[in-house]
Amino acid sequence: MKRPERTIGPMPISLPTRTPVKAGTATHCPYCALQCGMNVTVDVTVGKTVTITPREDIPANAGGLCQKGWTAGELLTSGERLTTPLLYGRPVGWNEALDFVADRIRAVQEEHGPNGVAVFGGGGLTNEKAYQLGKFARMVLKTSQIDYNGRFCMSSAAAATNRAFGMDRGLPFPITDLARADAVLLAGGNVAETMPPFVRHLTAMRGRGGRLIVIDPRVTATARQADLHLQPTPGTDLALALGLLHIVITEGHVDEDYVAARTSGFDAVRTSAAAWWPERVERITGVPVAQMRVAAAILGDADRAAILTGRGAEQHAKGTDTVSAFINLALALGLPGREGSGYGCVTGQGNGQGGREHGQKADQLPGYRRIDDPAARAHVAAVWGIEPEDLPGPGRSAYELLDALGTADGPRALLLFGSNPAVSAPRAGHIAERINSLDLLVVSDLVMSETAALADVVLPTTQWAEESGTMTNLEGRVLLRRQAVAPPSGARSDLEILRGLAVRLRGAEGFSTDPREVFDELRRASAGGIADYAGITYERIVAETGVFWPCPAEDHPGTPRPFLDRFATPDGRARFVSVEHRPPEEDIDHEYPLYLTTGRVLAHYQSGAQTRRIPALNAVVSGPFVELHPDLAERLEVSSGETLRVISRRGETEGVARVNPAIRPDTVFMPFHWPGVNLLTNPALDPVSRMPEFKVCAVRVERAG
Ligand code: SF4
Repeated sequence: MKRPERTIGPMPISLPTRTPVKAGTATHCPYCALQCGMNVTVDVTVGKTVTITPREDIPANAGGLCQKGWTAGELLTSGERLTTPLLYGRPVGWNEALDFVADRIRAVQEEHGPNGVAVFGGGGLTNEKAYQLGKFARMVLKTSQIDYNGRFCMSSAAAATNRAFGMDRGLPFPITDLARADAVLLAGGNVAETMPPFVRHLTAMRGRGGRLIVIDPRVTATARQADLHLQPTPGTDLALALGLLHIVITEGHVDEDYVAARTSGFDAVRTSAAAWWPERVERITGVPVAQMRVAAAILGDADRAAILTGRGAEQHAKGTDTVSAFINLALALGLPGREGSGYGCVTGQGNGQGGREHGQKADQLPGYRRIDDPAARAHVAAVWGIEPEDLPGPGRSAYELLDALGTADGPRALLLFGSNPAVSAPRAGHIAERINSLDLLVVSDLVMSETAALADVVLPTTQWAEESGTMTNLEGRVLLRRQAVAPPSGARSDLEILRGLAVRLRGAEGFSTDPREVFDELRRASAGGIADYAGITYERIVAETGVFWPCPAEDHPGTPRPFLDRFATPDGRARFVSVEHRPPEEDIDHEYPLYLTTGRVLAHYQSGAQTRRIPALNAVVSGPFVELHPDLAERLEVSSGETLRVISRRGETEGVARVNPAIRPDTVFMPFHWPGVNLLTNPALDPVSRMPEFKVCAVRVERAG
């Protein structure tokens, strides 16, 4: 079954009609995992102006916002907003669009079976949407083929924390604990650009005399604020962590009482760390031995310390082992599970945390339950009113799912919510080919993203301030994002879209469009799971400015610091895991002599589908650039402002040169908010988390033209 020839017609442009639901609605930012609190006010008397002001009562931002947050109101009045379903580019009514999608799903599944239809979600979806999407896939479509773009974000940290602590919660402590630490080591995170209000907690720590150590191949805005910056070769963080552990052991900084009382497996890790003497690590990482010794001493001498990892350490084919190496370092120092100290992952996407807890991940059911666990299947099936054997098993991970689209044994149809993989997936040119080979692509989005432009059916959805729902921020604090304005007529929420399809495919039972009803069901489905939300209500979230999971009962206070008494492992001990360094999957050679590393800039968010449509943000950074060292620029005979072509084994793209001594001479950096950069990146996958190696691949650079 082939889809008809398509012509994408002109995008319907209509300025949404707005009426304020309530002036000064307290809600949260549409973007990153800090989920800054903000007030949204709509003034209909002055042309439907949306005003954003920061909230003081949310500890994560406490009165601060970044450029993205301040300008988020422009998303609500953007002329690029989709307000009509599109069928092969032609505006149609909702019934025609949903009838068409349901008919095509039936046809594909008759020919190819339930797994002929796949679902792809996003880490920006509310908990309610993520839950409903997983339920729709398993219960209505009966497909195992569901995963989400959070796999590209924090899955390596999730895998490593699960195997060390038996639980994956980004920060297992309130973010305000950082201000009380004496030292913080941040590996591969640039919070000064990605989530600026985060920095106030580090600044408060430094104001008390605490020390900040940053590990990054670039002198980032965060690294510039550090007391010590370690600048390793891309792809060598794991060796650096092993070297730091070696010094901590040899210099006598191990907290032996803590290790004996609260951990298991240290002997094997101590033995393997012995082989990572500092001089060997310096040869691999380029980080001077003296700097490693200073870092180990700062951490070892601190009464309270935290070790944090971000995407720079995690987005590698060895990302899980790299995070394990930093957790081993934290455990040797006796940090996790002590008040004011710990290990944490600085989660990226808005609901990166909650989005991975409630069932849109290939191997999970709500409550962070494993889909291959018979007891978990029985519990969730009972909530959904089906038999456990009717639930499909685990499916493919995100890249493997996208890579299988349209193949002989892969899905033939894809329903996509809140994601833009034509820009954000590694080896994006290949993924676009796979998407184009589908019989049916349905995209729910608020703007015509690059992936939506490839779709047979585009469904215009409501956005952050036009709907209510819960988000779980990087601390594991469940927050309520409240509706502040009425949506434009023509847009529907994802909950309404899923119900519309469920009605046509199965009957409406069990697919509410009311976020609160969905959340109450989610609470029952998560009860008894690792991410237990049973005791969290909308009322409590508002009254308590968020509730930390696990929270198993309405009279339970929530759990800001879950590891104080025991870890979530069967014996209550944290597990050291032996890991070894290995080079990147693709190292540099004479043909591709430079490392490419990718990341974010302050003014833009993820694939840029939203922020590239905000003039004030585009005015700050309007397109892709290539950051390179002056020595490399001299060799290439280029200066800032010239257009460069960057070529890897998978594709090529262009960007404007930015000559900057802040980067290593053997490395170039490109932000990933525009189409093109991920044409270059390497889809080599981590064997545990299935995270692609976004952060390092081999390229050559030349002048364009
Ligand atoms: Fe806060 Fe992140 Fe929004 Fe910036 S993008 S205002 S840091 S939640």
